[in-house]
Amino acid sequence: MSDWLNIVDCVEPLEGAGLDAALVDEMERRFGGLQGERAGRVNFYTPTFKAYSSSEIAGCGKSAWPAVSITGGDCKLQCDHCKAKILEPMLPARTPEQLWALVNEQIAGGAQGMLITGGSNYRNEVEYDAYYPTIRRIKDTFPQFRIAMHTALVDMDIARRMEDSGIDAAMMDVIGSQDTITQVYHLKRTVDDFEKTLEYLVSTQLKVVPHIVIGLHYGELLGEWQALEMLRRHVPDALVLVVVMPFYATGMRPFVSPDTTQVGRFFMDARSALPEIPLLLGCARPAGRDKSRIDSYAVMAGLNGLAHPADGMVELAVRLQRDVRVTPSCCSIAVGDEVMAIDGADSGIQVDIDQVIEQERQRRAKPAGQLAGIRVVTEQKEALAGGGCCS
Ligand code: SF4
Repeated sequence: MSDWLNIVDCVEPLEGAGLDAALVDEMERRFGGLQGERAGRVNFYTPTFKAYSSSEIAGCGKSAWPAVSITGGDCKLQCDHCKAKILEPMLPARTPEQLWALVNEQIAGGAQGMLITGGSNYRNEVEYDAYYPTIRRIKDTFPQFRIAMHTALVDMDIARRMEDSGIDAAMMDVIGSQDTITQVYHLKRTVDDFEKTLEYLVSTQLKVVPHIVIGLHYGELLGEWQALEMLRRHVPDALVLVVVMPFYATGMRPFVSPDTTQVGRFFMDARSALPEIPLLLGCARPAGRDKSRIDSYAVMAGLNGLAHPADGMVELAVRLQRDVRVTPSCCSIAVGDEVMAIDGADSGIQVDIDQVIEQERQRRAKPAGQLAGIRVVTEQKEALAGGGCCS
């Protein structure tokens, strides 16, 4: 058995996860030597707009990074994978005045930033026109308050208006398949429109953090590799990968659960295609065993961040000798120190590696010092934790 399969065997929450042994072997060959500031680092993000906790990381418990929709739950596009459901739990701000009041309220309650988004029109544009002056006012009044905007499709003029409004990060979905655009999004737009949007955003001073939704074509991987090519031509500041949630789809157009081995292979290819930028696994992905497998492949393929990590991921990363960090923030905004550092004493370091080790000792009744010598880094301190692999 390979070293990495041995290591997986040591991580109790991964028992019975059913990882693909050939894929794990290949990842070990390709990424076993990952070292250095960026390649060897993995941040675990704990977004607070969704209740979260695992046995290893506690959620922050307060809404430091609320998600705000300028259309409330309304969206004209009604894509087959979403049907506007993603908007439902967000805070509505249907007018610029409501946005201003909401932001003031959120800041008074301790918010550090927000994601601003909204439903699309029939051309996959979010109509922010009326909001730019208010966003500028927010940034002028509260310069420390971070704003990440879901841009949808833009032309150069809109990209400049977004830049002028002072937002900190621009996010969009990159789709590389015309069939997916036509069938899943019901759009009369082209792959080139998506590439142009990327090109325009990257040409501004904005931090650009696009997403690829893996399995967007009814659960199949179709345009993902083409999307990677588009990103290689217009390299953003970071890339967020998410895995489609069939949960949102209707019975009329069902989605299958994406094959986790294929997802893992895509992680490897993404890492190889974009070696210079942080790759992050966003919070949307299937739950349960699939999540355990997907997250394990993400850690092994050298992704630099995981939002809402499955149980066992911190331990797996430590055992693979990665620099482990924890950031209590939306992964799309705080894409590592590289994009937007989050400073301050309240950043909240939630990993208690001693507790992880203690749990591991109790579970497996092994002698002390199992993880000794592996470096675990948090934002404010470095902790030396115990031992190597359990084998
Ligand atoms: S993915 Fe976006 S555009 Fe499509 S239905 Fe959901 S909110 Fe609307």
